[in-house]
Amino acid sequence: MADDTTETELLKWARRYAKKHGWVLNTDEKQLATVIRGLARNKTRFGRQYCPCRLRSGDEEKDRAIECPCVYHKDEIANDGSCHCKLFFSTH
Ligand code: SF4
Repeated sequence: MADDTTETELLKWARRYAKKHGWVLNTDEKQLATVIRGLARNKTRFGRQYCPCRLRSGDEEKDRAIECPCVYHKDEIANDGSCHCKLFFSTH
């Protein structure tokens, strides 16, 4: 089971990561907590913080693409204003 420490650490990491790129985290606390909980759960269960909004193939090599931050997030944030999970948001 994902513990609170993992969630707290992930949230800290996400904040730092967003800041470094000039993004912000979802301002809806409930949605934010859901994504963080999903990431923490995957980290605890699989040892990797797989995206909670994408399907794992089960192939470790392939699934590297969906480890948060996934290979898609920069394009998604640039094109849609947020990543698929709505964890990271652009500020403009
Ligand atoms: S969609 Fe967002 S939350 Fe999901 S892996 Fe990519 S960056 Fe992380």
